[in-house]
Amino acid sequence: MRKDVRILLVGEPNVGKTSLIMTLVSEEFPAVVPYRAEEITIPADVTPERVPTHIVDYSEAEQTDEQLYQEISKANVICIVYSVNNKKSIEKVTSHWIPLINERTDKDSRVPLILVGNKSDLVEHSSMETVLPIMNKYTEIETCVECSAKNLKNISELFYYAQKAVLHPTGPLYCPEKKEMRSACIRALTRIFKVSDLDNDGILNDHELTFFQRTCFNTPLAPQALEDVKNVVRKNLTDGVHDNGLTLKGFLFLHTLFIQRGRHETTWAVLRRFGYDDDLELHQDYLFPLLKIPPDCTTELNHNAYLFLQSVFDKHDKDRDNALCPEELMDLFDVFPYVPWGLDVNSTVCTNDQGWITYQGYLSQWTLTTYLDVQRCLEYLGYLGYSIIAEQESQASAIAVTRDKKHDLQKKQTQRNVFRCHVFGITGSGKTGFLQGFLGRNLVRQRTIKEEHKSYYAISTAHVYGQEKYLLLHEIFPDFDVLSETELSCDIVCLIYDVSNPCSFEYCARIFKQYFMDSKTPCMLIAAKSDLPETKQQYCMTPLEFCRKHKMPPPQTYTCNTAAAPSKDIFIKLTTMAVYPHITHADLKSSMFWLRASVGATVCAMLGFAMYRALLKPR
Ligand code: GDP
Ligand code: MG
Repeated sequence: MRKDVRILLVGEPNVGKTSLIMTLVSEEFPAVVPYRAEEITIPADVTPERVPTHIVDYSEAEQTDEQLYQEISKANVICIVYSVNNKKSIEKVTSHWIPLINERTDKDSRVPLILVGNKSDLVEHSSMETVLPIMNKYTEIETCVECSAKNLKNISELFYYAQKAVLHPTGPLYCPEKKEMRSACIRALTRIFKVSDLDNDGILNDHELTFFQRTCFNTPLAPQALEDVKNVVRKNLTDGVHDNGLTLKGFLFLHTLFIQRGRHETTWAVLRRFGYDDDLELHQDYLFPLLKIPPDCTTELNHNAYLFLQSVFDKHDKDRDNALCPEELMDLFDVFPYVPWGLDVNSTVCTNDQGWITYQGYLSQWTLTTYLDVQRCLEYLGYLGYSIIAEQESQASAIAVTRDKKHDLQKKQTQRNVFRCHVFGITGSGKTGFLQGFLGRNLVRQRTIKEEHKSYYAISTAHVYGQEKYLLLHEIFPDFDVLSETELSCDIVCLIYDVSNPCSFEYCARIFKQYFMDSKTPCMLIAAKSDLPETKQQYCMTPLEFCRKHKMPPPQTYTCNTAAAPSKDIFIKLTTMAVYPHITHADLKSSMFWLRASVGATVCAMLGFAMYRALLKPR
């Protein structure tokens, strides 16, 4: 909202401009006034909308045309004052004042005008009949008001309307010619409705309406008021209320009614609460709250954020099959201005047999976005109304910024939950197969993925000592000279060679020696396509000898050419190494270590089973 409001009063001499201002300030009608009142500033706390307000007078006798034009261009709202007992002063509104103002303001950013009929104490009849046609002709006229400086009638109202015209303009909300809401306003309110419809049944029930009322206006809605609102809608619309709740149609109707009755500050309050600016776009400050990320720290979602995302998933998984079919996903994205996920997402995370994103895949994708592009994550959470629904200050409170990785290494422990693994290997060595295998897809299944939907990322969970961690695999394009800092910074490195291709190991050895031999990042050699006959690698030593020499764990065989889903063992190992990088290679070689690591996973699974059984027991 604006920081202050500048109100200018213009009109013919003697219509009472100066008297109106003086009366507002002193609360009594001054017998004698100067030609022009000094500019006054009303402090924020005594104005109804709590913004400092400047009131500026004009006098033909004291000011030049040039000075008038300057004031016009500085004003946020202009009151054109006429005297109700003076026909000529009314005529001048259209013949002189409106054209003069319009010539000096942009067509797209017209200042709102208010028609003020002063000296209502002098006449019996109202001037409204004369004024209404003018109102209809000029849409920039926000409202009109009759008042009397002498009787102190409608004086504070006049200045309140002026303030309101600036702070809560009707222009962006409503088209007075068509007498209907503008499409941008309908779009914004529709999104607000969808976000507030917590169970996604297309109806705002009493619980949802109460929550909505509380978030927007900070006051509870009395049960009777709730009924009254619904009754108003019922009376005017056949399908505005359904199952005792408000439909989208009813919700939009209600806002049209607010606006038509001059209560558009209500609609503005709702729009602003949901992040909209004066142009009905989501405000940058709302979408991108400040979040500081020091170097060497990563970004993850915290528990609260996962709970929120879970509720969003549940809200859209209408058939409760634990996956989002394309229609359900589109419905989820309905509150976004564009579809945020491309089809490559389906090959980045776990999907079900139909290729639809599962609950686990959905959370993985959010984790990925948060890790790789936290600004985008903030933006997406903003579209979903995170801060409002989860009752948080902003989306920034959804993000956990991890501590510096160097610190983790020093302390030999980490609170991080997401670990990044870079996968190297020549073209055709089986990198993609490895990534897809992590998502549970065997070779047959992988062949159904279209070229244009392929992804260089794969993310899913793996259990380490019973704790669920995310492992983010990133396939690095084998382009030698251009390995950048980002391509090298990760928690663990996978070097993949193809056991059936004698020329594939040499690349792994080269990458290792060039980039990772002296780094602290743990490396693992993967002997991919282990279902095929092994051939001797063209290198001065065998892969096993290479590993021994460089104190790496021995090559790990891997195949995704399986009947069922490929084994996950290797990914548990990788995650374990990423979580505990300080563990020595000797430890890693010991079978006890792996046993303990995988026992952790089993214990967790058993615990889950025990809890499940406990739930089944009759109460
Ligand atoms: P300005 O030239 O537009 O600033 O008009 P002034 O404020 O100087 O007022 C012109 C004359 O109209 C003065 O004699 C005021 O006392 C008188 N006047 C202003 N407002 C009212 C009103 O509401 N009722 C009546 N009866 N007289 C008014
Ligand atoms: Mg004056």
